[in-house]
Amino acid sequence: MKRKPIFRVWVQIVLFVLIALIAVNHGLAESGKGIPFLSSASLHAVCPFGGVVSLYQLVTAGTFVQKIHESNLVLMLIVFASAIALGPLFCGWICPFGTFQEWISRIGRKLFKKRFNKFIPYKFDKYLRFSRYIILGLVIINTAISGKLMFANIDPYYALFQFWTGEVAISAFIILGIVTILSLFVERPFCKYMCPYGALLGLFNLIRLFPLRRNKGTCIDCGACSRACPMNIPVAVKGQVRDHQCISCYQCTSGDGNCPVPETLEFTMKKYPEVKNEN
Ligand code: SF4
Ligand code: SF4
Repeated sequence: MKRKPIFRVWVQIVLFVLIALIAVNHGLAESGKGIPFLSSASLHAVCPFGGVVSLYQLVTAGTFVQKIHESNLVLMLIVFASAIALGPLFCGWICPFGTFQEWISRIGRKLFKKRFNKFIPYKFDKYLRFSRYIILGLVIINTAISGKLMFANIDPYYALFQFWTGEVAISAFIILGIVTILSLFVERPFCKYMCPYGALLGLFNLIRLFPLRRNKGTCIDCGACSRACPMNIPVAVKGQVRDHQCISCYQCTSGDGNCPVPETLEFTMKKYPEVKNEN
């Protein structure tokens, strides 16, 4: 049974509920019945990916993209600053659509037990994971050409939190349905193969100040870290993990995570001593 860093679970639940309430309150506020102490911003205003296309548009044309707000830029800067230090915390802790996929995956794990999240061979899968960079490129190019947030029509996050409004494109519902079904077989399929924002944040893993390091001197080679990783990263055979797919979820680490040996697998600047007979 995989252990879950319990603090992260609570952060995910609170943020999921908060985003859902903001989404509902936006509709209520328009009819004058909004909850006063809660933000009535539209879902676009609390989407940090909007900040990326906003920034592009602001730099290239000096204007904001339609339906995008200055708040996106603020959110984006906070997310980027944290990613420089700790990688894509946004993906592993905050994104409510990542949380949604994790919750669906709990059913898949019960159905398929050890086969869950292992249907696609790693050799093939590690190349398939680059598909999200193609989507990122297409979204940026199309948004720059049209001046509208092109991702909105296929955005399952928007479909999930606005399904009752009549504003959601049928294509977004189809993607939401596909992701929900895939989540029964694969952990976080949208994050792995489709999310343009995850693609961008994943790049911070290559330069982050606190990479994931494994102390080969104290590691007992049990493989629990690799088995716990939702993104199928082979942590147990690496000294330092700078994988572009890591979502900083802490499921693999010593302490709250699944590594049974204290101070053996940590996000740290500290370099562990080299082991002589290592590969
Ligand atoms: S390597 Fe560790 S922190 Fe990164 S995604 Fe895998 S389990 Fe989470
Ligand atoms: S879980 Fe910890 S002890 Fe086990 S292989 Fe991974 S780093 Fe080593």
